[in-house]
Amino acid sequence: MYDAAKPPVSALLPLFKRKGESPMSQRIETVCVQGGYTPGNGEPRQIPIIQSTTFKYATSEAMGKLFDLEADGYFYTRLQNPTNDYVAAKIAALEGGAAAMLTSSGQAATFFALFNLCSCGDHIVCSSSIYGGTFNLISVTMARMGIKTTFVAPDCSEAELHAAFQPNTKCVFGETIANPALTVLDLELYARVAHEHGVPLIVDNTFATPVGCRPIEWGADIVTHSTTKYMDGHGVAVGGCIVDAGKFDWMAHADKFPGLCTPDDSYHGVTYAEKFGREGAFITKATAQLMRDFGSIQSPQNAFYLNLGLESLHVRMPRHCENALAVAEYLVKHPKVAAVTYCDLPGDKYHALAQKYLPNGSCGVVSFELKGGREAAGIFMKTLKMAAIETHVADARTCCLNPASSTHRQMTDEQLAAAGIPAGMIRMSCGLESKEDLIADIAQALEAV
Ligand code: PLP
Repeated sequence: MYDAAKPPVSALLPLFKRKGESPMSQRIETVCVQGGYTPGNGEPRQIPIIQSTTFKYATSEAMGKLFDLEADGYFYTRLQNPTNDYVAAKIAALEGGAAAMLTSSGQAATFFALFNLCSCGDHIVCSSSIYGGTFNLISVTMARMGIKTTFVAPDCSEAELHAAFQPNTKCVFGETIANPALTVLDLELYARVAHEHGVPLIVDNTFATPVGCRPIEWGADIVTHSTTKYMDGHGVAVGGCIVDAGKFDWMAHADKFPGLCTPDDSYHGVTYAEKFGREGAFITKATAQLMRDFGSIQSPQNAFYLNLGLESLHVRMPRHCENALAVAEYLVKHPKVAAVTYCDLPGDKYHALAQKYLPNGSCGVVSFELKGGREAAGIFMKTLKMAAIETHVADARTCCLNPASSTHRQMTDEQLAAAGIPAGMIRMSCGLESKEDLIADIAQALEAV
């Protein structure tokens, strides 16, 4: 059974260094199924759910070593739990990272990844094409904390990207495939420019998943996920994950990152970059400091559900992409459709970048604009029989949304057009059903428009 004295994987020590494994020693399909947890003789075949808030120790000295970060182990589930660490180890392996942690949501993952580097007075360079919730977090909530951001167009030139940096810039942030605009980030360019300014690139890889793209291979330093989306894939569990590549040399830029490179008074004077090195510093600080203070951990039960989703991620993603491409190809020829956005379509503005970074398919989300505007979108959506109206994407079941009448309903048609979200735009997340049935449903709904 699970042995508390020998925890399987602890974010307090770099995952692969400790286990002596290379991050991608197996193919991605095998890591999806078997990664992160290797049971010993007579131990449970499936990841055990350690449904316990706390962990027992024989002596207070033994527990004291954990508090001093002298030994790795578990003491309180607000900071760490073995079930979570099995799943985090799998995601770290999938992304080719050195260490990882699960969070209660994708929002928590984004916030922790940024706040682990930035304090009041610091600055972020960010692609303007990001998830609306992340935009709000960065542009409103983090601005109130004194952290300012310069937004750049996702397809800005190298010179424009350089110009966005300030002496107090601490990181660069973008999404591999942005939600909902479906732009594709030029990962190599963003990583190179970030490194020239001595800061890491953080990439939200939610839509692509490591099956489609592994941003670390293109130079990204930290990868975040809303695991709520394709990783879970069944609309079951809200969650997030942060993966550190373990490559960024914090000590080489110690003046920029005092939180990692000078003693942490709130943790017995530990200097994370010195004690845990490149591979362990970022996740250890985020666990020991941010998780301790903010407590946004994923429940072990949700981590278990997430792992079930991950076991089939490599089988589901190609099917999501296949269905989305079939839907996009159908829509692009339809007379009632004004425009289709899907980067796997040859005519798409981001097709070349998609070919480079996502050669095996992008994701299951397609957006399109109906010629009749908001009214046509309303008729279309209420006539759909199979595709449900939901504020969700990346589910096994197809779902859709008209931003103008839901997430962006406070905006006028003119404001929507300026934001690149026409009133008749529909975002459709293609599920795993038969593509013929999906297209038949879309066809009958378009007839009613
Ligand atoms: N990142 C992306 C790309 C998203 O699409 C979302 C949610 O839709 C998030 C982050 C936030 O994730 P969560 O809803 O799990 O907090």
